[in-house]
Amino acid sequence: MPELPEVETVRRGLAPVMEGARFAKVVAHRRDLRWPLPKDFAARLEGRTVVGLGRRAKYLLADLSSGDVLVMHLGMSGSFRVFRDGDERTPGKYHHERSQHLAHDHVVFHMGNGAIVTFNDPRRFGSMKIVARAVLEQEPLLRALGPEPLGNEFDAPMLARACHGKKTSLKAALSDQRIVAGLGNIYVCEALHRARLSPKRRAATVAAKSGAPTERAQRLVDAIRAVLGDAIAAGGSSLRDHRRTDGELGLFQHDFRVYDREGRRCPTRGCGGTIRRIVQTGRSTFFCPVCQK
Ligand SMILES: [Zn+2]
Repeated sequence: MPELPEVETVRRGLAPVMEGARFAKVVAHRRDLRWPLPKDFAARLEGRTVVGLGRRAKYLLADLSSGDVLVMHLGMSGSFRVFRDGDERTPGKYHHERSQHLAHDHVVFHMGNGAIVTFNDPRRFGSMKIVARAVLEQEPLLRALGPEPLGNEFDAPMLARACHGKKTSLKAALSDQRIVAGLGNIYVCEALHRARLSPKRRAATVAAKSGAPTERAQRLVDAIRAVLGDAIAAGGSSLRDHRRTDGELGLFQHDFRVYDREGRRCPTRGCGGTIRRIVQTGRSTFFCPVCQK
């Protein structure tokens, strides 16, 4: 499933063609995405201008001139393709891929600037929803989300407060969208390795008894910000069918230190450990038992 860096990469790919542009025509080939699209989906978009394209956790938020917000989620396998008339910047491989999966092109935005933005989702776990900006804060999808890890709100005292007294593992705590939003299996594993903290360590140990942050909390916050920043700079990680909207592959998978590297040598200088895989809350965790304590 795409995590924050992949969704941010998609946002950056879509912003130049969607921001400031009007929805000239909206076609929904299939309405039964994760949640059915509303009957008035096209009508509430057509003629409206995208004032800004933002992101909250793994949700893309297109602010419309009508005061509505188009909330979009990629689900497991969703992707957007951008075509601009006459623009053949996408490699042949990309077109080949697209023609194979035409049946999965569920929603097509014809923008007033000539761009065509297509949402393709073979597994249909993706979703789109239109919510009035005024009630966005109460939207159930967004309401329970914790802070943005790259935002100012997210710091060591906040992480310590959220983990204080928690008996779960650090891996489980960081995967919990209520504690910090947008992280998934890959970036939790990578951040814990950078912070040299074991994924099995109790979450509560990033806080002192008083609830104040320990030095571990700061290390973890720094590691999370660093790994997300590096991943965004690399265009995200390409696993299976996640692609950047311009058809190029994100490259961060080549920089994984532990994820999907079971049996390989730990890249930490002077460590000499071997990456192990364990299962926590039903998901694979990759870590180095030597330098992650
Ligand atoms: Zn190591």
